[in-house]
Amino acid sequence: MTTTAELQALDAQHHLHPFTDHGDLAKKGTRVIDRAEGVFLYDSEGNKILDGMAGLWCVNVGYGREELINAATEQMRQLPYYNSFFQCTTPPTIELARQLSELAPAHINHVFFTGSGSESNDTIFRLVRHFWACKGKPEKKVIIARNNAYHGSTVAGASLGGMKPMHEQGDLPVPGIERINQPYWFGEGFDEDPNAFGLRVAQELEAKIKAIGEDKVAAFIAEPIQGAGGVVIPPETYWPEIQRICDVYEILLVADEVICGFGRTGEWFGSDYFGIKPDLMAIAKGLSSGYLPIGGVLVADHIAETLKSSGEEFYHGFTYSGHPTAAAVASANLKILKDEGIVERVKNELAPYFADKLKQLADHELVGEVRTLGLLGAIELMKDKSKHEFFENKGAVGTLCRDISVGNGLVMRGVGSTMILSPPLVIKKEEIDLLVERARKSLDDLAIRLKA
Ligand SMILES: *Cc1c(COP(=O)(O)O)cnc(C)c1O
Repeated sequence: MTTTAELQALDAQHHLHPFTDHGDLAKKGTRVIDRAEGVFLYDSEGNKILDGMAGLWCVNVGYGREELINAATEQMRQLPYYNSFFQCTTPPTIELARQLSELAPAHINHVFFTGSGSESNDTIFRLVRHFWACKGKPEKKVIIARNNAYHGSTVAGASLGGMKPMHEQGDLPVPGIERINQPYWFGEGFDEDPNAFGLRVAQELEAKIKAIGEDKVAAFIAEPIQGAGGVVIPPETYWPEIQRICDVYEILLVADEVICGFGRTGEWFGSDYFGIKPDLMAIAKGLSSGYLPIGGVLVADHIAETLKSSGEEFYHGFTYSGHPTAAAVASANLKILKDEGIVERVKNELAPYFADKLKQLADHELVGEVRTLGLLGAIELMKDKSKHEFFENKGAVGTLCRDISVGNGLVMRGVGSTMILSPPLVIKKEEIDLLVERARKSLDDLAIRLKA
């Protein structure tokens, strides 16, 4: 059997990791995750770790689901792969498109398949411009996005995203993208009433459209709740105002549902939770609970009709668009979510329980704010909460807290100095208790380390 040290050495020799400082990684050695069951991971040293992040916001039905394993095995035996180019399709692809149309808001009945969330947003980037060109308005090209947004890591995804360090490497964003502020009340609007703040940042969209000219703006894209940006939950006033502005100026509203989709908020989509009517929705992650890579763009009827009647080809697509095995797994995943009433259970039982328990951490000396919505949570750490003073080096504190937490048997992720959580949607109440217990112990340990 290969030892952990041998695996780490080979990994260091041959594997370039995503979003990783390899000098730093070489010092510590990578953690080798070996197997998983339910909401627990096991590493190569035999440590059992509660996965408070559902992998990377995706393993919504938990690990080890036989239904998904069987769906993949059966489909691979029948037809592992075929493409959807050249006037072809496969039965699992059709079935998944049907199911998604049923689950999506009533005005959405088409899907364009991709292999990931980034590819979904790249598709959106090209599709909104092609759409307006088909409508005879080719000058409607600019896409408005938000600071600190995350829309993936491809050229268009990183460009639409608002992560400064990503832009600095390689001259991003590409042209044609404008940006407004995020609805991050705790960090950027603390002196204001939250609802007044929500309205004010939403109205930045209107000001931006007027500055550019509505005849030049194609779309506005945002995550219903900003995930990788630190679980930024907008005030109640925010989304209705954004919807109003998009309607008035005929701007396509794009919801990046890659995290919020498939039950995370206690509704099927974040857009359902906030009562908005997007023209396009990016999906991935929870679509297959991460068992196989698959994503897509849900397309409103009026856009699909425009494409279909344009008399033109949309020159876009991927080898793995509508991959039959990935589609079969995604369908089986949706069936589990429906049959087990998981989305309703998140809404009625788990979200209130998670909110109640996690908010108990707000009394901790290091915790400035705890916010939750559905099964998304954020614990915002502060240097001195009585003065609303943040740490100078937020990233270092967040990383230290993450490492302590993993050592204590809980995966939390640090975004700056905000610890974020997104557990599998099948987590049990006693597992939520364990999660909060380990989070508190990690905060206590962090306080000791910071004082030393
Ligand atoms: C993860 C994520 C993406 C990118 O998805 P990939 O599958 O990693 O390409 C896009 N948007 C949001 C909101 C995400 O969280």
